Amino acid sequence: MSVLSHVMKFEQMTKIPLDYEKYNDQPAEPYEMNVLSQVISNEQMTKITSGFRRLGDRCYLDNAGATLYPANLLDTINDDLVNNVYMNPHTDKYTKDCLEQIRCLVLKHFNTNPSTYSVVFTSGTTQSLKLVAESFQFSGVQDNLASGSFVYLRDNHTSVLGLREIATDKNADIIHISHDDFLESLASTQQTAWRDSNDANTLFVYPAQSNFNGYKYPIDCIDKIKSGCLNHYVKKHLCKINCNWYILLDAASYVSTNKLDLSENQPDFVCMSFYKIFGFPTGLGALLIKNSSGNVLSQKRYFGGGTVDALLSDEDYHIKREILHERFEDGTVSFLSILALKHCFDNLNKLIPKVINNDLMDTISHHSYYLAKDLYQQLLLLKHNNGAKAVMLYMDSEFNDISKQGSIVTFNLMRENGTYIGYTEFQHMADLFNLSVRTGCFCNSGSCQRHLMMTNKDMKEMYKAGHRCGDEVDLIHGKPTGAIRVSFGYYNTFNDVDKLITMICKCFVKTTVTKPKRYTDYNVNETKKVIKPDKPNSIFHRLINDTAYFRDIKNILNIPHADSKIALKEISIFPIKSCGAFKIDSAWKIGPKGFEFDRDWMIIKDTGVCLTQKQNSRMCMIRPTIDLKRRLMILNFKGKEPISVPLDITTQGKFKNTSMCHSKVCTDMVKGYDCGDDVADWISEALEVSFLRLIRQADEDSRIQKKKNNEDIKLLSLSNQAQFLLINKATVRWLSKQIRDPMFTDDIDQLTDRFRGNLIIDMDEELVERDWQKVFIGKHEFKVEGQCPRCQMVCIDQQTGEKTVEPLRTISEQFGGKLRFGIYLSYVGTIDASNDNVLVVYAPIKAKADDDISR
Ligand SMILES: *Cc1c(COP(=O)(O)O)cnc(C)c1O
Repeated sequence: MSVLSHVMKFEQMTKIPLDYEKYNDQPAEPYEMNVLSQVISNEQMTKITSGFRRLGDRCYLDNAGATLYPANLLDTINDDLVNNVYMNPHTDKYTKDCLEQIRCLVLKHFNTNPSTYSVVFTSGTTQSLKLVAESFQFSGVQDNLASGSFVYLRDNHTSVLGLREIATDKNADIIHISHDDFLESLASTQQTAWRDSNDANTLFVYPAQSNFNGYKYPIDCIDKIKSGCLNHYVKKHLCKINCNWYILLDAASYVSTNKLDLSENQPDFVCMSFYKIFGFPTGLGALLIKNSSGNVLSQKRYFGGGTVDALLSDEDYHIKREILHERFEDGTVSFLSILALKHCFDNLNKLIPKVINNDLMDTISHHSYYLAKDLYQQLLLLKHNNGAKAVMLYMDSEFNDISKQGSIVTFNLMRENGTYIGYTEFQHMADLFNLSVRTGCFCNSGSCQRHLMMTNKDMKEMYKAGHRCGDEVDLIHGKPTGAIRVSFGYYNTFNDVDKLITMICKCFVKTTVTKPKRYTDYNVNETKKVIKPDKPNSIFHRLINDTAYFRDIKNILNIPHADSKIALKEISIFPIKSCGAFKIDSAWKIGPKGFEFDRDWMIIKDTGVCLTQKQNSRMCMIRPTIDLKRRLMILNFKGKEPISVPLDITTQGKFKNTSMCHSKVCTDMVKGYDCGDDVADWISEALEVSFLRLIRQADEDSRIQKKKNNEDIKLLSLSNQAQFLLINKATVRWLSKQIRDPMFTDDIDQLTDRFRGNLIIDMDEELVERDWQKVFIGKHEFKVEGQCPRCQMVCIDQQTGEKTVEPLRTISEQFGGKLRFGIYLSYVGTIDASNDNVLVVYAPIKAKADDDISR
């Protein structure tokens, strides 16, 4: 529709003379001092807005409705989906690992980690809210009389108010608190002294930021609420009192332009929608559950695919999964959208210069806050020619504290004679000027009623008079039924504020306003945190100096168990996880995480997920060797010049946080140093996969062995389960005899290599190692941690990278489907309590089985 026909239509509809032409001769805006942002330089801002050219001359001011995605984000996502094969995560471990990795990214964005919070992917805030209310255990388990309470702030989003119905069904007491009372209760120092042993639970819901006017409610009050500052509300309503407060934070509006730091304040549940942060994808949100509060969500009824551990189809029997996100994600998650999230985080991080506190979201919140503040200040001063106030603002803060106000301004306009201009009328003019704003009540009737001063009676009468939520009836008896909401995002600039003000002045107020002084305040950089250079990795400085290393080999060989018939045959380390072995012919040092340099490095994909042989069988053909004299790790690959990386981290590269995804849960965040572009390119070429990086595990990263029965904690390198893997060659020989496939031509050594053991022993008897509890090698004591579960990786010929069916088929056949081969060991110490930590090849071995442990 052309502007003209739009105007005509509008004129017919409203019968208001359209005289903005007359005002076109207003002085042109002083563009010579055209500052775009208070915090981001014009140059950087221009770069950011270049991703939003599709807007043309549309001025988008509804960030709180949905933020906008930059154009190149979709290119990146498209590239990923076009070039990679993603499958149902229940089918494909790699896809699942990618999702686990993204859960970690989400948590990292909120400055927390998987040991504190779990990420449950949902379709959005609304579903997250519902999930909590439906699963929440309100009533006491023992004391059935205690029904529990659902407490909410009246100024919540409609999606929260709807939880009332669920809570009512569960017999919870429904209690609401007004905006003023809530803030007053938080401010009062008066502590409710009593506590009750009643075991019913209270669920309290409030927004971190109002979607109505951007007011930020305190988030640092979680502990205060938990310790009872709102107890008097519950007390009034109940004869039986409880104070087990659980806090559900509606962060949907807040996180779209603010940093939520969950390391400081920890609500039990946090919900959000990702389109409000990134603009894309829609239909995806999250519920963050504090792990320690997961138990109270015990009333989940429905179960769907992927959420149960056991199930009978013809009997009322099912057991829900233990892991929180597995229990709450019914059916297949929106995995392609979740995969897109990674690019959303990356893209935004690249796009926005981290000007404030060296932080992405802090920069966005300051940038957009100052735009809103600028608009607020202009509206505040906007007057008609007769001096009458032109704007009625509906704010709860005066833009003097960024911790209390977000980037939203809500108001109505008034005529010279003091009557209101309806929001529908405003909306039509805004459309005409290509301005996108939101009008109405924005799904927040509590705030709407409070600010527009409508009583419940008013509301009911308006309904009777025919007004419906979302309709165009903007005034009833001259009183507004809704308002105009302007909200800013990172892509907005002061130009957008100007366009809005110009439109208001041309259409409704017919005056000029003086703009507040604008400047890009580089001083805010002062708050920028100094990034400390990464510490050199101490362990590598106190490494074996090599002369001492082999000095006392003779001494070392003079060790107990010399009578033993078994000896250590081989020591292998795998410096890069999943790559080839480095076989050691003399002796090697045991470090705190296993053999020194064993799985100290890993190769990661651009998704941040660790690459393994399962995805790329060529990895075994990268053969690292360690040169202790020159202090280098040298990588060899057939047909390529070797390349080396230093063993000591002195000129270390970027510090990367990646996470490793093991079998089921991705709980391990691994900290590491990036080894630089040269080796990254070399590896990418060798493996024929783009954008690989080599990462060195950082010293302070302490992955610990998954504990069984609270036993002592062992540090781990990047190996999968335990510090050491022991393989008995006799068992390999035995297995070889069982394999009947004529196509399988491995000799014993080749077959042994497939099991990728660190410690290779040779005995007369096969399979005996399966009963061992303790192993003594030379003077070193090891504890057996169990048998090593096997997967398709043993089917990769470690020389050629070719995949075969054997030996996995035979292992499965021989062990009744239990794919186990080799035993895991952890290091206990020396039997003579000496500091000697070198293990020597040919050292004699003694083992103790279950029944002959004497101590
Ligand atoms: C947007 C919003 C919601 C609803 O989010 P959906 O994505 O529609 O589920 C709830 N609460 C607040 C504060 C919001 O801003």
